[in-house]
Amino acid sequence: VLVDRPQPHLDRPFDYEVTAAQDGDARPGVRVRVRFAGQDVDGWLVGRVAASDAGRELQRLRSVVSPEVVLAPAVLALADRVAHRWAGTTADVLRLAVPPRLARVEKEAWAFQEVAEPSPAAFKTPPPDHDAWSRHAGGAAFLRRVSAGERPRAAWQALPGTGGPGWTAQVVAAVLAARHGGRGALVVVPSGAEVSQVTGALDAAGLAPWRPGASGGWVRLVADDGPAARYRAFLAVARGLAPVVVGTRAAAFAPVRRLGVAVCWDDGDALHAEPRAPYPHARDVLALRSELEGSALLVGGYARTVAVQRWVEQGWARDLTVDRAVLRAATPRTAHLDRVELAREGPAASARLPGAAWRAIRDALADGPVLVQVPRAGYLPAVACATCRVPARCDVCHGPLAVGAAGAVPACRWCGALAGSWRCPRCEGTRLRSTGVGSDRTAEELGRAFPQVPVRRSGAATGVLASVPRAPALVVATPGAEPAAEGGYAAVVLLDAAFTAGLPGLDAPVRAIRTWWAAAALARPAAAGGRALLVGEATEATTGAFVRWDASGLASRELAEREELGLPPARHLVAVEGERTAVAGFLSGLSTPGEVLGPLPVGDAPEGVLDPEQGRPVRALLRTSWEGADAVVAELAATQATRSARREALVRIRVEPEEVT
Ligand SMILES: [Zn+2]
Ligand SMILES: [Zn+2]
Repeated sequence: VLVDRPQPHLDRPFDYEVTAAQDGDARPGVRVRVRFAGQDVDGWLVGRVAASDAGRELQRLRSVVSPEVVLAPAVLALADRVAHRWAGTTADVLRLAVPPRLARVEKEAWAFQEVAEPSPAAFKTPPPDHDAWSRHAGGAAFLRRVSAGERPRAAWQALPGTGGPGWTAQVVAAVLAARHGGRGALVVVPSGAEVSQVTGALDAAGLAPWRPGASGGWVRLVADDGPAARYRAFLAVARGLAPVVVGTRAAAFAPVRRLGVAVCWDDGDALHAEPRAPYPHARDVLALRSELEGSALLVGGYARTVAVQRWVEQGWARDLTVDRAVLRAATPRTAHLDRVELAREGPAASARLPGAAWRAIRDALADGPVLVQVPRAGYLPAVACATCRVPARCDVCHGPLAVGAAGAVPACRWCGALAGSWRCPRCEGTRLRSTGVGSDRTAEELGRAFPQVPVRRSGAATGVLASVPRAPALVVATPGAEPAAEGGYAAVVLLDAAFTAGLPGLDAPVRAIRTWWAAAALARPAAAGGRALLVGEATEATTGAFVRWDASGLASRELAEREELGLPPARHLVAVEGERTAVAGFLSGLSTPGEVLGPLPVGDAPEGVLDPEQGRPVRALLRTSWEGADAVVAELAATQATRSARREALVRIRVEPEEVT
């Protein structure tokens, strides 16, 4: 029994006696209750043996919680590997992998219709659409190999879906190829919105959803669907009834039987990184899984992450490339308003919406809707002293000030206090100027500039639109909230490039281009008159790659730079965080940590501490070559377990952290 305890030194199986009465139900993979260190605790029955080598008299299992097998052997093996790779515990991983039990869902009527293998005859599987992959070199071969039961690994840069089959059609083709080979499929996407896009495409292709009582079809595994819906879908998979799963990051652990293909869409989205220990990334969990279970792997997006580029350059995954001419035909005419072009415009070019962008919008509005992406929400989300330009802060709590609406009094974004009589603490100035314009103000400005068309808004505050009609309209959206347009946008304009490209983090260029292409991909292709226009400053490497839709070129350049500088993913990196003495004690216990950077303070000091350095968490970074990574991670886990056994303070270990700033 693996007990569900948080202490790392208890993360191993313990032996218990199974009574004759429990014998039938006590199968590997069921939930049990056991007596552990004087308490009744939950656990997983992970195996049965005839005799124990524990060398002591065994306690009996308290109870088998449910005869339902919810922990498949393949998922247990995966959880072990994930725990090792991310220096965590198997119990932590299982908490991510298996949803909480709902007894009433287990007892629903369809529960008694378990079958060993889904019968292909009972459920119609349409053939995979090879046309969806015809523009990607090697795409058809990939589908054939998946159908044939092989295990190809591939990366792809998706083309906009406005002028041909989009990414969902390609994912559906991969799923159906696996089903045709008699295997299951697992698709992991960033959020519920993409889950609905994929399941909608599965429906359209003729693969119906699984229904209670049936065998075959797809289920969605999304935490937001609620505990009952999620557990019902999980059980359908665990019982071998639903062979296709579409879900968000935790679905990477779904117990799909005979997995044929694992798909990760848009692996650059931060939502794929698990925020709970041991902080695994869905893309990397699926990669491990494809190795363990012999399945195919397919990872892609509009942008290419540096991690996936490394797979491609090492030959671990194949790049399904697109010919330049095909790329040009499928994408909008894409341009960046650079300094030279802006200089030609004279003084008007200093405006946030330069003349060239204004003309592009005007021309496109004759033809259909225009999407304007604004990276910040709000009206004037950032203000500073008009005299000395120091950012304006709240008198009460030192939070940043912002202006919420035209003519409104500036207010604190943290505590809401009004700052009607603001005075600059540095220069005594009393006037404020905006240093950032939000989507509210942009919508207002565009409404004035183009009074003849409606301005529609899409964002977290005003509501996210799913789609807009073909009619001319201005659609102002924040990143991630861009609605699709029927027939595609006539033009997509991306404002404030410098803000998006200047966000902190090692991955800023790839993230920026991902943000821009996600919107630009909603434009019509060039042949249908579609345009995409980036306004603002960013490095030439980034804007150049953006204009050419050169995903692998940018990722390859970034990877080369990381190799030169010794940065991840070219090198293996681990963040060790916690209270200062705990981190120091932890590091002193390591024999071969590689190169240690820090520890340095991170984050804010806790409230009420007089010496701000006291009690502030610190972070050390451990950097090694990939050859030495396994040994370092194993030692980190062992050290954490030793500290746990001695009841010393634990540290937070983040292996290959998504974000290091
Ligand atoms: Zn000032
Ligand atoms: Zn405040």
